[in-house]
Amino acid sequence: MDIRVICVGDELLSGDTVNTNLAFIGEELAAKGLAIAAEHAVPDDVDDIVYALDCAKQADVVIVVGGLGPTDDDLTRKGVAKFTKRVIFVDPEIRRRVADYLGLRTQGMPSHFLDTQAEHIESATILDNDNGTAPGQVLQNGKTMIALLPGPPREIKPMFIHKLLPLIEEKRDFIWQTLTVRVSGLPESQVEARAKEAIKDIPGLHFAICLKNDCIMLRLGRPDDGDNTPLDKARKNLQDAFGYRLLPEGCLTNAHYLGILLKSRSLQLATAESCTGGGIAAAITDVPGSSDWFVGAVVTYANEWKRDVLGVAAETLERHGAVSEQTVGEMLSGLKSRFHVQAGIAVSGIAGPGGGTPEKPVGTVVIGAFVRDWQAIRTVRFAGHRDTVRLRGANAAINLLVEGLCDNESCKEATT
Ligand code: AMP
Ligand code: MG
Repeated sequence: MDIRVICVGDELLSGDTVNTNLAFIGEELAAKGLAIAAEHAVPDDVDDIVYALDCAKQADVVIVVGGLGPTDDDLTRKGVAKFTKRVIFVDPEIRRRVADYLGLRTQGMPSHFLDTQAEHIESATILDNDNGTAPGQVLQNGKTMIALLPGPPREIKPMFIHKLLPLIEEKRDFIWQTLTVRVSGLPESQVEARAKEAIKDIPGLHFAICLKNDCIMLRLGRPDDGDNTPLDKARKNLQDAFGYRLLPEGCLTNAHYLGILLKSRSLQLATAESCTGGGIAAAITDVPGSSDWFVGAVVTYANEWKRDVLGVAAETLERHGAVSEQTVGEMLSGLKSRFHVQAGIAVSGIAGPGGGTPEKPVGTVVIGAFVRDWQAIRTVRFAGHRDTVRLRGANAAINLLVEGLCDNESCKEATT
């Protein structure tokens, strides 16, 4: 199926807004074994919208994103109406629904606001918007289904998944089965080689791999002939090949995986962070329900804070430096003794651009983790800029604790 996307908005071309809706649509389609054939980003201009629609006239589905708001620069409905030679009318039913959605906020609002939001292209089906004012619209133009969706991510996401995707799936002439799995703690090249080896005897699988969040995502697909055994076998083979490094089903990040492991063992976690500046805590608290297993973080950036908050000895800092296995070891001890947790993560590193030395260049990060009596501390070196070093440092530290929890028998029994 030929699916095209047209993203409308000056802000997408000026760099003020990152085109996350394109990534979102691509990802949702890929999970269904579909793909975007091409994308066209255009400014808020009727003729540019018409031109982009004309370029996509061979497509089966064209998704036009954004430009449905109430302001003068929101011109998508006008562009689609011009291209399809249809009229636009103000739909009293939509107007009423938008007014209901806004409630008291309509007071003092210019009446053309509601009229604009209620613009209905002749013969289009309306997709109600439960999270905003402008509804989506879908219309058939020859062989092409044209869908208009709102730009704000919180509006487009539920509308795309629940309202448009079922319509696209109705049009497809083949069904596709997919298996998506995530692998943590290994570089992409190793994951690819090991995964391909694991599935080499299963014929006809489409294989895709990418770095996603803090792990490597693998997606396998095949035409759905009603037989689930090939993908079931692939999952089993991948499980055997990657062991605990394969994230459980439904688990999208390493931080989430860490939470599952800690919760099942009734362990409480605290973190002590320096160069990651709270990045580990941010990844952890992104996980819904993390309060079940995460008690808090201290960001001890300056040496004085490492000393006063965590009890790192002045002598250790003096002799070995803040970025050292000795300091990180004492940061872990401080978490244990002062915050009474059974699991901890500590990180200290040089994110750059300044601060590197020949012995400890920029990118040097010391990561440490403990679970009760088990402890590991490693010095790792990351290439890249400040952001990359901080992000990779945080990921590596989370991975180290996952590794400890999975690899070590002593960490496995649950405390009572
Ligand atoms: P619009 O419907 O064009 O008025 O867009 C409303 C909001 O959604 C604005 O804040 C836009 O920056 C945002 N938006 C529009 N298109 C996109 C997109 N492709 N990706 C991310 N945000 C977008
Ligand atoms: Mg706009």
